[in-house]
Amino acid sequence: MRWDNLGESPSVLFGTDVVTRTVDTPEFRGITFHEVRARSLVNRVPGASRMPFEWTVNPYRGCSHACVYCFARKTHSYLDLDTGLGFDSQIVVKVNAPDLLRRELAGRHWRGDHIAMGTNVDCYQRAEGRYRLMPGIIGALRDHANPFSILTKGTLILRDLDLLRQAAQVTDIGISVSVGFLDRELWRTVEPGTPAPERRLDVVRTLTAHGIPCGVLMAPVIPFLGDTPGQLRATVRAVAEAGAGSVTPLVLHLRPGAREWFMAWLGHHHPHLVRRYETMYADGAYAPKWYQRRITRQVHELAAEYGLGPSRPGEARRITAPDGRDPGTGTESPAVDNSASGATQLTLL
Ligand code: SF4
Repeated sequence: MRWDNLGESPSVLFGTDVVTRTVDTPEFRGITFHEVRARSLVNRVPGASRMPFEWTVNPYRGCSHACVYCFARKTHSYLDLDTGLGFDSQIVVKVNAPDLLRRELAGRHWRGDHIAMGTNVDCYQRAEGRYRLMPGIIGALRDHANPFSILTKGTLILRDLDLLRQAAQVTDIGISVSVGFLDRELWRTVEPGTPAPERRLDVVRTLTAHGIPCGVLMAPVIPFLGDTPGQLRATVRAVAEAGAGSVTPLVLHLRPGAREWFMAWLGHHHPHLVRRYETMYADGAYAPKWYQRRITRQVHELAAEYGLGPSRPGEARRITAPDGRDPGTGTESPAVDNSASGATQLTLL
């Protein structure tokens, strides 16, 4: 199946999903939505994966946040779509996601495990403003008291604040916001479709103020462009001032699909760095261990200085009632529930 054929064949399959409609709309100039009826939604992460969670839900494929380094670009090639501009502008929308999730959560084989969202592409990208899938998804998780976590760069998550609070009263939830740096010039060029880093920190501030614990995934730290001691300090200080419960650094990785796109961007915007990147990423997708360790140590030292901790597996938390009782079960609830099935999403975005 080629991309060019999709508009002519509304019943064509997108993977196992059936395309019902292809939509171009003036409010989303340059973006095409491919509405599909998904056949399944809760997805099991392959056992060999490095991911610290087992189940994911992704209502979208492709992401108009258009981060040049996005590791998910490769996944667009599975649909026979372009991993560059196509990933940014050809957005697959699983329009039946809320209903399907409700059905799957009620299935007799589902054991109520933690579900991670925002692990492939951002579920609060711009398309969510039009399709409003997340309220139905969070509502279904809340009604089944099913633990979950969300990783996002989208300020749109605040639209669902009430639902998140309701869910947090009956199950463990974890929110992580991704902010790798504050540099505005770098932001405009390398994350052109995202809300500004300051707006994302406003999300952290608001969620925290409403009792919803929120960590920051400091990702990616971009070598030679966002990694000076002054840049790291400014970011960690701003994260702390926003009230984040934790900060977890993650150095840029460049897997196939993202690597070609990022290196083309680098050659255009910072040609003098191309050779250094080729050396740094000569052995594969990851920066050398010594570099990763250095960044991690620097960020952890800064975090300690500003009173922040790194995030830990099982960071998802449940909001407790004012009397210290767990509103969902009526039992005593620890301040931080590290036994939750929740997991941080620090390998992503
Ligand atoms: S890194 Fe996240 S926000 Fe950026 S394009 Fe990829 S999925 Fe979207």
